[in-house]
Amino acid sequence: MLNLHWFRNDLRIQDNLSLIKATATGQTIALFIATPEQWQAQDDAPMKIDFIRRNLQVLQQELSLKNIPLLFAEVGNNAGIPELLEKIISVLGISALHCNREYPEWEAQRDNAVNLMCKKLKVAFFCHEDQTLLPPEQVYNKSNLPFKVFTPYSKAVRAQLEEKSVHLESFSSKQAMPELPALSSKTKTSDSLVFLRQLGDLSWPNISADLLKKWSLLWPAGEEHAWLMLRNFVQNRINQYKPLRDQPAVDGTSRLSPYLTVGVISARQCWVHSMNAELDNSVFAWQNELLWRDFYKYVMVHFQHVCRHKNWRTDLGHIPWRDAPEDLERWKYGQTGIPIVDAAMKQLLETGWMHNRVRMIVAMFLSKHLLIDWREGEKWFMQHLVDGDFSSNNGGWQWSASTGTDAAPYFRIFNPVTQSGRFDPEGVYLRRWLPELAELDNKFIHEPGLLRPSSYPPPMLELSLGRDRALAAFKVPSEMYPSDKGTYRPQEKVI
Ligand code: FAD
Repeated sequence: MLNLHWFRNDLRIQDNLSLIKATATGQTIALFIATPEQWQAQDDAPMKIDFIRRNLQVLQQELSLKNIPLLFAEVGNNAGIPELLEKIISVLGISALHCNREYPEWEAQRDNAVNLMCKKLKVAFFCHEDQTLLPPEQVYNKSNLPFKVFTPYSKAVRAQLEEKSVHLESFSSKQAMPELPALSSKTKTSDSLVFLRQLGDLSWPNISADLLKKWSLLWPAGEEHAWLMLRNFVQNRINQYKPLRDQPAVDGTSRLSPYLTVGVISARQCWVHSMNAELDNSVFAWQNELLWRDFYKYVMVHFQHVCRHKNWRTDLGHIPWRDAPEDLERWKYGQTGIPIVDAAMKQLLETGWMHNRVRMIVAMFLSKHLLIDWREGEKWFMQHLVDGDFSSNNGGWQWSASTGTDAAPYFRIFNPVTQSGRFDPEGVYLRRWLPELAELDNKFIHEPGLLRPSSYPPPMLELSLGRDRALAAFKVPSEMYPSDKGTYRPQEKVI
């Protein structure tokens, strides 16, 4: 019995259900398929693709210690995968294909096609539930319908997790090196090699050596590193998560998102390990974030129209988004003249990551004050985030634009200047990303006004006007809501 484990967003050995099930039932070979055109169509950032490459490098070494060969192949996009897999399965003489399930529609369609191909070949196909704490089809409300709101969803998940408790699968045994019959046979070698490549020969984005070095220091690869980060966070910082998590200048969050996105660590591992800390409001809050991650995957499965970049709220199709390419460019490159927005956009461009509080601020600024379609922001984020994850990104954008499930109400529009003063009162984050403002007093740094240095652009719009325009666009008579005209201080609620 020779099994094939197909790595996708699960680049780890421990607690990898598919890999562990495959090795438990037979000798196993592992495979990764590069799909450069698909990555491009899905706007995956070069930094994320490179992170995948570096993690594969580590994974290959770790797997070889367990006698599991990791093979590589390449095809343009998902459409070519069933045919490629069919060839690989036939050449290697595979009897069962294992992988971990992915939830968005494109990936589900790809896996359906692979399933049909396996049926044709009479090869078993196992798509394991691995990415979330509970499978999306295991959580419904009392009317047996999918939840549309996070809090009751999270309570239902927690209730089930308490009952069953989260179980981790550990990989222990080393297997005997599998023979690769077709590869070792002289006659078939050239056929086989048509499909198989070396990791370095796959079509990775062209990136300068300097950038590669910078990125590998920013986001070191490997399961061991992810574990170090998790342990360090749980031992030293998780109990301060609640008070610190909203401050972008502080290292108050785990920064595990890139590792969770490509599966170098699992949500189950994070959940179980968080139990090692004393359970308080902070641990509860951090676990809730893991549940938000699950919730957005759940939304992908139960409300598939969001996978096609449609508003989750189908009644909001009327929003007259502005076609304003120049404004969009200023937002993209941190030239809006609103310091907290510009600092955040610079952090994204420099590091491929942005703190959650400022993700919400810049997303609201784009979709509300600038009234630019949230899909433009969603795309830009994906193109630059090392943790770019379709479901969390789409969920975060639709939350901010008030078009999603359990989204921010459309009239609760963050004032970026107020948010800046509240969450970065001493301007530490602003000074880090906007050195041109470093000399400004804490009182003025959030909104420099006349003290603005000439090297920094003036605000691209008056915030109160942008807010009123957004309220009108969502067809709400603005007099129904607290006015902030001229004050720049709307009565917003911090969530
Ligand atoms: P922590 O605070 O330590 O949280 C632990 C983990 O929980 C995170 O690593 C992440 O996996 C998950 N998580 C935390 N917050 C959220 C959330 N709001 N929604 C879903 N999962 C969450 N997250 C991504 O992983 N990929 C994205 O592409 C992405 N795009 C976003 C776009 C917008 C507009 C917004 C508002 C949020 C987005 N998020 C995204 C969610 C969140 O900002 C990041 O997960 C978080 O900032 C990562 O930092 P961390 O690992 O330190 O998180």
